Amino acid sequence: MANAIKRCWICGGVANSSEHMIKASDLKTMFPDASNQKPFYKHPPEAPNTAVPGIKSGLIKYSKTICSNCNNARTQPHDRAWEKLSQGLRSTNFTLKKGKKLPLYEIFGESAQIEMENVYRYLLKLFGCHCAEHQAPLPLTQIGCAILMNQHHPNITISFFAVPPRTNECVAAIGDLKAIRDSNGRVVCAAYWFGIESFGVIIQYSESEHPAIYKHGWKPHDTCLSMKLN
Ligand SMILES: [Zn+2]
Repeated sequence: MANAIKRCWICGGVANSSEHMIKASDLKTMFPDASNQKPFYKHPPEAPNTAVPGIKSGLIKYSKTICSNCNNARTQPHDRAWEKLSQGLRSTNFTLKKGKKLPLYEIFGESAQIEMENVYRYLLKLFGCHCAEHQAPLPLTQIGCAILMNQHHPNITISFFAVPPRTNECVAAIGDLKAIRDSNGRVVCAAYWFGIESFGVIIQYSESEHPAIYKHGWKPHDTCLSMKLN
């Protein structure tokens, strides 16, 4: 029997594109010379010290769960906003510490609100790809709709945390997807985090009438853009 065509979880087109688990632009700044001769290393529990021969390697991408139009043209402003935020946060201009405000206006100027909405949608795409990869039973179609309609998802929030420096090595990390189920076994909250050098992000789906894993997330249309680092 022929394999069924996999569909893009955002638009329903043919899923022919893979999203990087950590954005390629972030990896490029961390490992600018990565190659077969000079790999960087990935440490999943099942295969620590896996050599990654460059930032285009499939080892650091999710499987193909979205289409190239959604991954490129549709979400380009979202990707660009993330790149600007990530570069800004990791620049030497800002010290990131628990309890300090995120320097969003310093990085984005007057367009901070609009750009953070774009950052949020980049994180929606990443969260959806992470959930699709792990076959998490979450409403991916709704998340896809939020991206298609340029809206937010009412149950998904983002928050940021500071990572104290530990070594001089460049480190990016991705946490496991955690979930809470209700008494019927339905997932009512799910979250995962990733970190890049000095800061990390938590993306959480949580239904308001159920307990959440993390507190204090932000989503577009929350009254205040002021976000503190956890
Ligand atoms: Zn698509």
